[in-house]
Amino acid sequence: MAVGASRVIVLTTGGTIAMRYDAAAGGAIPTLGADELAAALPAGLPEMQVEELINLPSSHFTLETLQVIRERVAALVAESGVDGVVLTHGTDTLEETAYLLDLTVPGEKPIVLTGAMRAASDVGYEGLANLQAAVRVAAAPRAQGLGTVVVLNDEIHAARYVTKTHTLNPATFQSPGWGPVGRVEGDAVIVVRRPERQVLPWRGLEPKVGLLKLAVGLEADSLEDALARGVRGVVLEALG
Ligand code: ASP
Repeated sequence: MAVGASRVIVLTTGGTIAMRYDAAAGGAIPTLGADELAAALPAGLPEMQVEELINLPSSHFTLETLQVIRERVAALVAESGVDGVVLTHGTDTLEETAYLLDLTVPGEKPIVLTGAMRAASDVGYEGLANLQAAVRVAAAPRAQGLGTVVVLNDEIHAARYVTKTHTLNPATFQSPGWGPVGRVEGDAVIVVRRPERQVLPWRGLEPKVGLLKLAVGLEADSLEDALARGVRGVVLEALG
């Protein structure tokens, strides 16, 4: 890999970006390892080191998986020789990991999550383009202080606002009401907004939390059931 001024660590965790169709499995499964992904990138990118942390669809993640990711990312950004971290991730729960990292990993170094909507065996696989853009953002001095961001489809989205909006479209990651904080155009990283960031003390993740989405016809028994299960708190997604 070509050597630039910055050193970026690419941590891989699986997802469609690492998947290929497998006839025996009857679907796409994570098969591309970190080295294969890195080897497929063009020369001339910032210096990279790759590490495979896990290789799973993100819908299989648990709170323990998130803790493992959070610990590794926090340790890497604390290293003096590291300028930024890229995390490849399944898109299904990517926004949750991004928000966790944004809220709990202190420091100015860019943490960039990316993924793909099409598997490596699909026509129009965009995983390498997304990975290349993510590496550029992680190495960019102007991305310092942005917190954790999500880079897909050449857009840079703040973890605080981004959400997956479509099951198949490569432009799925959007920040409704806010828009992207920047773009990647060729090798240029353009940042147009810097959202305020709040970093919380890390005390681990509380597993006993209920999540209830309110809708017409939902009765109090859903909340009572959650409380009867001994949850320590309930998040209510309320009506407008
Ligand atoms: N099921 C995949 C995952 O979240 C979807 C994707 O990566 O786009 O791991």
